[in-house]
This record gives sequence, C-alpha cells and structure tokens, in this order.
Amino acid sequence: MGDSVGHDHDEDGFRSGLARGELLVPVCRQCGAVLDYAQRVCGECGSAALGWRQAEGRGVLRSAVEMSVSYVDSLQAPYLVASVRLAEGPHLLARYAGTWDDVRGGQPVNALVEDGALCFKPA
Ligand SMILES: [Zn+2]
Repeated sequence: MGDSVGHDHDEDGFRSGLARGELLVPVCRQCGAVLDYAQRVCGECGSAALGWRQAEGRGVLRSAVEMSVSYVDSLQAPYLVASVRLAEGPHLLARYAGTWDDVRGGQPVNALVEDGALCFKPA
C-alpha cells in the first residue's frame, strides 16, 4: 500500500481510494487530525492543507433506510443504505449488506470495498 497520506485533497481522492480498494478518511496535514468528509478546514488547527489516509474499516451503525428505487444499475432495489460513524470519527453513507434484523443503533460494522464501491457489513 505504501504511504497513503499525501494525496491532494480533491473530490476525487475518496473515489480514487475506493478504486484501489482502500477506504480513506480526510486528515489535516498540519496536525494529523481526522476530519469529517465535508470539512475543508481543520477544526483543530485551522489549516486548509488536507490529505487522506487509510481507514481501519470499522465503524458503528447509526441508522439505515431502505431504498425502493435503483438509482444505479449495480444496485437492485430494494436495498439498505446505512449511516455509519467510522472508528476514526467521520460519518459515511453507503449500502448496507445486512438485513433489517441487523439494523440496530450501535451495531458494529466492517467496511468492504469491492469493484470500487463501498458497503458496510454487520461485524
Ligand atoms: Zn489540523
């Protein structure tokens, strides 16, 4: 994998990570703090020099919704979308490869990157 910090903090950084099979979280290059995905300035030190680093791939389920329409060909409705808080802190929405029986607030989940797409599975 090599050094996963130091990519330009562009919108494509996250997607390029997924394309390589890596889940990345935004980090401040100045102080190392992990940021939320929408942040453009570090809340700790005010720096706008942001980069990416690989996430552990663990998180906690906060909520889920069932999608009844397929917005992309690769996802056949109905499917679940989960709101997950990653172990590093940031929040993400992604497909949930579980069932309603696995939907409990606080359910530990693991991130899975397959074919450039992220999903979460019950841990
Ligand atoms: Zn910082």
